Amino acid sequence: MNALLTTSAEENYLKAIFKIAEKEPGVVLTNALAAEMGTSAASATDMLKRLSDKQLVAYEKYRGVTLSETGNRLATALIRKHRLWEVFLVDKLGFAWDEVHDFAEQLEHIQGETLTERLDNFLGHPRFDPHGDPIPDAQGKWMRRTQTRLLTLSPGQRGIVTGVDDHSPTFLQYLAELGLSLGAELEVLERTAYDQSAKVRIGERETVLSEKVGQNLFVRII
Ligand SMILES: [Zn+2]
Repeated sequence: MNALLTTSAEENYLKAIFKIAEKEPGVVLTNALAAEMGTSAASATDMLKRLSDKQLVAYEKYRGVTLSETGNRLATALIRKHRLWEVFLVDKLGFAWDEVHDFAEQLEHIQGETLTERLDNFLGHPRFDPHGDPIPDAQGKWMRRTQTRLLTLSPGQRGIVTGVDDHSPTFLQYLAELGLSLGAELEVLERTAYDQSAKVRIGERETVLSEKVGQNLFVRII
């Protein structure tokens, strides 16, 4: 169906454009893209010209870039593959949730729709990855979850962990040590006005979470 050949480097740019635009809709600036890719504006511009030649992006010099319909479809398919592989690695191979991202970064570049569809079938069509991020279906649609940052909860409110905004292994390991995996329940007991840190109860245990944790942890209020 899609005879368009793309390199891993090109695919990583498409994903980066998608992710930036997801947070801030509109035209993605070349500098923002270069920063996300950890490269210079000149290299990012070279790549954008290549992607533009392949009609994967609409690129205007000095203005920035948006994904074309094809580019958007490719980026969504990459995210689908990435997140399905993460589910596979955690659920079937027993990896912890902080260990799978780098593997998935490689696995997502394997070409072949049949592989993705078999994987999806094998896993029973999961709708969320091990970090709580939604997995696009074969049509590129995904479920939005009603969730809020832990930071917005007041004392007395309880929530269930639904996801994270920081995917770094150190953060994920820290949460795991606290018993804060997906589906864990917690209650905010007190919040310090000074720095927005919160005393919370997780199971039998009481602990203090910093503002940074409150900012990066998504919960569904129950
Ligand atoms: Zn990942």
